[in-house]
Amino acid sequence: MSKITDVLSGGSAEEDRLELAPDELAWFDEHGESLPFRLPDYYAGLIDPDNPDDPVRKQAVPSVRENTVQPYELEDPLGEQRYMPVELLIHRYRSRAVFLSSGTCAMYCRHCFRRNFTGTPLQPSIDQIERAAEYLGSHPEIRELLVSGGDPLVLPLRILEAMLSRFRSSRPDLVFRICTRVPVVLPQGVTDAVVQLLSGFREAGIYVVTQYNHPVELSGESLRAVHAFIDAGIPVLNQTVLLKGVNDDEDALADLMNALVRNRIVPYYLFHLDMARGTSHFRVSLERGLRIYAVLKQRLSMLALPEYCVDIPGGGGKVSLSGNGIAARDGSAYVLENREGQRLSYEDPGEV
Ligand SMILES: *Cc1c(COP(=O)(O)O)cnc(C)c1O
Ligand code: SF4
Repeated sequence: MSKITDVLSGGSAEEDRLELAPDELAWFDEHGESLPFRLPDYYAGLIDPDNPDDPVRKQAVPSVRENTVQPYELEDPLGEQRYMPVELLIHRYRSRAVFLSSGTCAMYCRHCFRRNFTGTPLQPSIDQIERAAEYLGSHPEIRELLVSGGDPLVLPLRILEAMLSRFRSSRPDLVFRICTRVPVVLPQGVTDAVVQLLSGFREAGIYVVTQYNHPVELSGESLRAVHAFIDAGIPVLNQTVLLKGVNDDEDALADLMNALVRNRIVPYYLFHLDMARGTSHFRVSLERGLRIYAVLKQRLSMLALPEYCVDIPGGGGKVSLSGNGIAARDGSAYVLENREGQRLSYEDPGEV
């Protein structure tokens, strides 16, 4: 039986906690070399080895179920390629843009919607940063830049610093949203130097957006990392992805949202799963998602209640399922209305 650290360290590990289940082992047999896998010891340590359905394990340890690609699943589920005016910069909505700052992450989430982009060693070149900065400079309607990837907090600090400085010199009023899972999966990566660097940009507003999906992820160490940001003047928001087998129940989600608020983190999004390739085992039906959300609405304060959103595949944009985004429904066929008032059809594939 292979152990997870054997996989991580090429077999030289002393000792270990996690035995791979057959479906996990099968993934490594087939793909161990080719598909991105990374699991920090810290995050692996949150896994209860005796629970095959552990919510952390599901997010972190690959399963051969990822090889099943449904006909409706897409390489680029949000159609982001269509909205890139310059390399690495996605401008889909008038007032905000996304910079794909890194191809790597501290951990590769098995449910990632950019899983065809992440896992590449991409770092933005000076040239790419320059072109994105020029675009931002000539588009004052862009108020906010989401710095995403991949994970910006795994970049060498000098690159992160050069990038943010260049963007701010082009646009001193630009608000930054730094999207990162480092505080969740590798809190040791939130060093004093990282906190200092980011807090240097706080005058025009800088926010950290994390992705906690389950209450067990809010360990003391993880909270220390988050509090270092907050105490340095950087508010922390959270987006949760609704995942079958991880957090698809009212109690886990209500506990998570309440724990976030208690720890000064603002829950702002609950995302319905995007249609990325090989993720159908994580998919909750829209109908069940809406039922779960109805319970959250009854139980949670406005501070603790995130906005439940789905992205229409192919670039149709975000739709608020908690607001008035559902224009019509006939069984699994929905008509959704995005925030620009466009109505588009959405076929809910349901659960496998
Ligand atoms: C979600 C998203 C944003 C940010 O939109 P908000 O509504 O401000 O959260 C920006 N660009 C893209 C491509 C997005 O998917
Ligand atoms: S940290 Fe974000 S970009 Fe990286 S694998 Fe996880 S979900 Fe994807």
